[in-house]
Amino acid sequence: MDLGLDLGLDLGLAPDEIALRARARAFAHDVARPRAAQIDRDEQYPWDVVKALTEAGFAGMTIPKALGGQGRSFLDAVLVIEEMAKACTVTARIVVETNMGALSTVMAYGSEAQKKLVAALVLEGDKPAICITEPDAGSDTTAMSTRADRRGDHYVINGKKHWITGAGVSRLHLIFARVFDERGEELGIGGFLAVRDDAKGLRVTKREQTMGLRGMPEGELTFENLEVPASMAIVPPSGPRRGFADLMNAYNSQRVGAGSVAMGIAAGALDLALDWAKTREQFGRPIAEFQGLQWMLADMQTQLTASRLMLYQAARSRGADGSAFPDPMLAAQAKIFASETAITIVNNALQLFGARGYSRELPLERMARDVRMFTIGGGTAQVLRTLVASKMLGWKLPQTRDGYVPKASLRDAAE
Ligand SMILES: Cc1cc2nc3c(=O)[nH]c(=O)nc-3n(C[C@H](O)[C@H](O)[C@H](O)COP(=O)(O)OP(=O)(O)OC[C@H]3O[C@@H](n4cnc5c(N)ncnc54)[C@H](O)[C@@H]3O)c2cc1C
Repeated sequence: MDLGLDLGLDLGLAPDEIALRARARAFAHDVARPRAAQIDRDEQYPWDVVKALTEAGFAGMTIPKALGGQGRSFLDAVLVIEEMAKACTVTARIVVETNMGALSTVMAYGSEAQKKLVAALVLEGDKPAICITEPDAGSDTTAMSTRADRRGDHYVINGKKHWITGAGVSRLHLIFARVFDERGEELGIGGFLAVRDDAKGLRVTKREQTMGLRGMPEGELTFENLEVPASMAIVPPSGPRRGFADLMNAYNSQRVGAGSVAMGIAAGALDLALDWAKTREQFGRPIAEFQGLQWMLADMQTQLTASRLMLYQAARSRGADGSAFPDPMLAAQAKIFASETAITIVNNALQLFGARGYSRELPLERMARDVRMFTIGGGTAQVLRTLVASKMLGWKLPQTRDGYVPKASLRDAAE
């Protein structure tokens, strides 16, 4: 059961959106849920689920119809992601990456040839990888050292990335690197598309040992003289020098997706806790009769409904003012709130089960491990707060490497 939705509060969804959600719920029940525990145990990427998602049309839903997709909205994607995440987090993340993320970057800024290439790969079930983070460049993305040197009609990429989702299973890679022209002059940070099948200089050099989300490989990638045709460089409208901000703007779609996975995990955990509270008896009565637990349940539902509303609002903001991505403020706030409250909700759901919650026979311990990632990946909760505050204040991000920005430069930034 899903209060807030099943009580008739459909939060402004259209009949088509409700129908899509019902289809996703059925898929999650029939395909994703039965596989979730084994995917976690085996730590194997679930190619069978990918195939089923692709056949059911949940991969590449947001690709425009002209490119073979369904032209669906980000809200549609959010509805599907939530249903999948209730059952299996890895499945939900595949839906995120095949509808948002690198795909939305290419759809916004790519050439026609790039869009066709990426649409074809994703519609075949490929989950593109986004390669930004490096050992010495985490939250401070601009500290990245991977470089792309122009050599005639191609670029040569050298460097190392880590914590790349899909390392070893993704075919398409969107690689961020410092761009240098033929004379060795730096132009800024750019994005490059490489397909692993024909990319000789791209190697997976380590698999991260993760706490949760174990069926989705996270890995280190090493680029050694990786040659990428110049036609595979993504140049946003603001040009190579200022293009990095545009490219990072695409992360607002990924944030809505990540927040939706967290919210879906929380919804799944709350469903379990609610059923358990009604059936488990102690002191001669169902534990749901204890007011302390009723208030816990009420708080969990309230947090969940607030997260859901924030995520729907952020998803709906895409396209406003012609933007290809959700509003940065709404996306950041939704991700902060949904990811933090989801950790609390799952933790409290586990608590309501007593010792059973701590057992590997129930999915709650897996959910508690999986949900922990969403305040970290895709912009940490702290860095996103900095983004929100900087927009509120009308300043650029008020931080430098030494953490201090002279007042004068803040004034300049505001002007
Ligand atoms: C499961 C998972 C999947 C990921 N997938 C990808 C991927 O596909 N592609 C990719 O490129 N990256 C990926 N990442 C990396 C992720 O984006 C980074 O982990 C994240 O940006 C933080 O960088 P960091 O881990 O180096 O932490 P750091 O930047 O070293 O941060 C350490 C701590 O300091 C805080 N902090 C840092 N700067 C500030 C500041 N200015 N103000 C306040 N607090 C600050 C952080 O919030 C954090 O608590 C993934 C990470 C995880 C865990």
